[in-house]
Amino acid sequence: MRRRAFVFGAATAGALTVVAKARAQGSKETQKNNAPPKPENVMTPDEALARLMEGNRRYQKGLARRHDFVAEREALVGGQNPYAAILSCADSRIAPEYAFDSSRGDLFVVRVAGNFANADNIASMEYAVEVLKTPLILVLCHEACGAVKSAISSIQDHTTLPGHLPSLVAAIAPAVRAVAGRPGDQLENATMENARLGVETLKTATPLLSAAFNEKRVKVVSGIYRLADGRVDLFA
Ligand SMILES: [Zn+2]
Repeated sequence: MRRRAFVFGAATAGALTVVAKARAQGSKETQKNNAPPKPENVMTPDEALARLMEGNRRYQKGLARRHDFVAEREALVGGQNPYAAILSCADSRIAPEYAFDSSRGDLFVVRVAGNFANADNIASMEYAVEVLKTPLILVLCHEACGAVKSAISSIQDHTTLPGHLPSLVAAIAPAVRAVAGRPGDQLENATMENARLGVETLKTATPLLSAAFNEKRVKVVSGIYRLADGRVDLFA
């Protein structure tokens, strides 16, 4: 476990160094030698968002694309350049690759119950944006989120959940407190506020994501997944 963590860390640091060197040289040759495995994934933040939502419309209609798994795998042996990164809840009903009708190599997905942005998740997004050049981050929450529901009950009833669950409650607590007294459905209010806070955290995470956001290299948006029809509604 320790060794794996080290290897991942070393690879990440190595990749970041390569990126820094390539930027410093500004060399076209470096660009040519590192041709992305999926050239169709090189796009602007707005194009990436449009593509994601087109995929969601196909999914809603049940029109998923067929996948050539063998060809897809072979294309991705040498690398990856996903066009969107998604911070999604771990809920088994929310499957980003299905919900946006995407293939392997298209989405860089980070999942945690309650889809909050903590240091580990921010680091994963930094990898996606800085090393893989992903132009879009979507924080994806959903209706009837058990993690948010548990956080609300724990805070309101002054109860402490068992095991490691209190850390999850602590991560979601700012959203629960922010919507106290707000009209409407408390669970949906807290769920959407939690995603909004996640977007804010990612946009302002210094020094990497904040710079990428300010330089318009990445767009950060939030969306809520509707359980009944699979629709993802974007919101600010
Ligand atoms: Zn959830």
